Amino acid sequence: MVRELSRLPGIGKRSAERFTFALLKQPAEEALALADAIRDLKQKVRHCSRCFNVTESDPCAICADPRRDQGVILVVEQPGDVATLETTGSYHGVYHVLMGRLAPLEGLGPGELNIQPLLDRVRGGQVREVILGTNPTLEGDGTALYLAQSLEKMGAQVTRLARGLPTGASLDVLSKAVLADAIHGRQGMGR
Ligand code: ZN
Repeated sequence: MVRELSRLPGIGKRSAERFTFALLKQPAEEALALADAIRDLKQKVRHCSRCFNVTESDPCAICADPRRDQGVILVVEQPGDVATLETTGSYHGVYHVLMGRLAPLEGLGPGELNIQPLLDRVRGGQVREVILGTNPTLEGDGTALYLAQSLEKMGAQVTRLARGLPTGASLDVLSKAVLADAIHGRQGMGR
């Protein structure tokens, strides 16, 4: 148990031991609820075939919601970014999850991300605006630039979350208010 837990990010041996002893003390049904949740996670959760967000149903609840504007797509790096942006309640379009960012030094090129499915969605014709919500890091910005060039060639309107976002931050550490401002204040790519 300690060895398995220690493999998770941010959990050292000491924390893993604490969790393990806490589980030992728990009634069996509570501890087994965690085991069930892990099994469900791996067996039931998959990626939405449209936006690649994690979901138990396909399409996901956001893509399937008739109140969401299918004409606006917000592009993010990870499923966690969708969850973070949803907490703001300020966005009513749909998403596209890249599952990473372009990182040539790590061998992550356009073919390793869900970029082609994004281009296919835009080519489908109903999309009025693509908002680039990659993290404001060097690689996130590089990814946004690459996407903007590809999308603008197709005639799509491309915007970027407002630059009030502190450089180097990732979306999941920003406050709701900052994110809501970034959504409302989005700007053209300025090129
Ligand atoms: Zn979806």
